Amino acid sequence: MTSQVVVVGGGIAGLTAFRQIQKQPGVDAVLLEASSRLGGKIRTTNFLGRPVDEGADAFITRVPWGIELCTELGLDSFLISPATSTAYVLVDGVLRKLPEGLVLGVPTKLLPLLRSRIVSPLAAIRAGFDHFLPDDWPGDDESVGGLIRRRMGDQIAERLVDPLVGSINAGDTDHLDAALTTPQLETAARQNRSLITGLKEQAKASPKPQTPVFVGFENGMGQLVETLVNSVSEADIRTNTPVTAITRDTDNLVVWTQQASIKCDAVILATPAHQAAHLLASCQPAADRLSSIEHASVALVTMGFKRSDISHSLDGSGMLIPRGEGLLATAVSWGSSKWPHWADEEHVILRVSAGRAGDTRALALDDNELVETLLTEVANILEIQGDLVEWRVSRWIDAFPQYAPGHDRLVAAIERDLRSDMSGLFLAGAGYKGIGIPACINQGNQSAEATLDYLKTL
Ligand SMILES: Cc1cc2nc3c(=O)[nH]c(=O)nc-3n(C[C@H](O)[C@H](O)[C@H](O)COP(=O)(O)OP(=O)(O)OC[C@H]3O[C@@H](n4cnc5c(N)ncnc54)[C@H](O)[C@@H]3O)c2cc1C
Repeated sequence: MTSQVVVVGGGIAGLTAFRQIQKQPGVDAVLLEASSRLGGKIRTTNFLGRPVDEGADAFITRVPWGIELCTELGLDSFLISPATSTAYVLVDGVLRKLPEGLVLGVPTKLLPLLRSRIVSPLAAIRAGFDHFLPDDWPGDDESVGGLIRRRMGDQIAERLVDPLVGSINAGDTDHLDAALTTPQLETAARQNRSLITGLKEQAKASPKPQTPVFVGFENGMGQLVETLVNSVSEADIRTNTPVTAITRDTDNLVVWTQQASIKCDAVILATPAHQAAHLLASCQPAADRLSSIEHASVALVTMGFKRSDISHSLDGSGMLIPRGEGLLATAVSWGSSKWPHWADEEHVILRVSAGRAGDTRALALDDNELVETLLTEVANILEIQGDLVEWRVSRWIDAFPQYAPGHDRLVAAIERDLRSDMSGLFLAGAGYKGIGIPACINQGNQSAEATLDYLKTL
């Protein structure tokens, strides 16, 4: 007998899950995507005549799932790495180069930290106390900010770790779970009295990586989605098909769209968590827990300039802007320095981010106001004289799930709710077990495996 499986959501998690499911003999699979395009938060469009990412532009190779998928799709020879890894942070209006020896913003070498002038001499000495302070691990559920503040002091937390880790998650590190957001830091601090010693021991134990830490594609991250979609092109994929509800009757799960209802044996729900909450209204405990996951919004403005109009040499991948600087911009990626193929010799591309957890000012501005405000801020820092040659605004609303302390237990409870009230329904995607592209790919694969195991029990 053929089993029916519906995958809801055509982002990277849903597409990965669908690819695994649809190739199984004896399984009829359909993917339903609300919008007119596939890829979700991965989107590459032309800017100054070349493909430039509107969202993710690279993924990490320290976990295997991204690279593994690229290898399966025959994409490994198209992977490229950023041209530079140097970066800057804005401190009291002045750009300071990040010192050597940083691990996720945590300084493991105190002399370069002192020389960087990112923190005061007293704050650098306070960071060194980490070597001598007694073990003060407070137990599970510590925030990233809590961990850094207790081991290294407030300035390290606010001028280095929050700008860096916070910009990856659009979050406030005082409210992000340390074990889930920065497992490397949490493990080092838990296994050692000193965070710095723990990080140094980790570095000694793991051999120097052969591959670059981050990789992207010459044609942008959209190349991954395009190749993934081509690999399932014969399959039943329906765009412009928003799912409105998912329910369970005695024998089946039922997926409702505006036009029809589809009875099926299993569902992989790969939408953002806030959408999943809405679709699972018939399973109140899971819906309530899902809607308790907070999300942050980001506006990303891509700006093109004439190279001759910018005085700064842009010798790095970009700059981070701590909250304390009081600007609307949170980070500026010097896109064409990081990826030189993004622009020709005469032009420069910057990607300016605004918005993060607790800061919704960018949402209140229309596109013109947003661009004008960010341009004034960036022009001031980088000494830009000329006008914009081209610009575009990409708004990512409720795009960044915030993993509050205890998020893993919340997800486990949601999964329990679903096993008891919606058996056969599995979750995948950024809302649950990692927001990076590799983590979403892994969740797509795991949800497909769980689905196939479940089908065997029917
Ligand atoms: C600006 C930005 C920059 C980023 N940079 C990086 C980076 O450099 N590196 C990195 O690794 N990660 C990065 N990320 C994170 C990463 O891109 C995302 O976490 C990941 O792509 C999310 O994939 P997903 O499949 O879980 O969800 P999504 O991409 O959100 O896909 C979910 C899909 O579900 C669809 N959907 C929603 N509701 C319904 C419904 N009712 N019915 C049917 N379909 C529905 C949506 O339309 C969407 O296509 C970035 C994210 C953003 C926003």
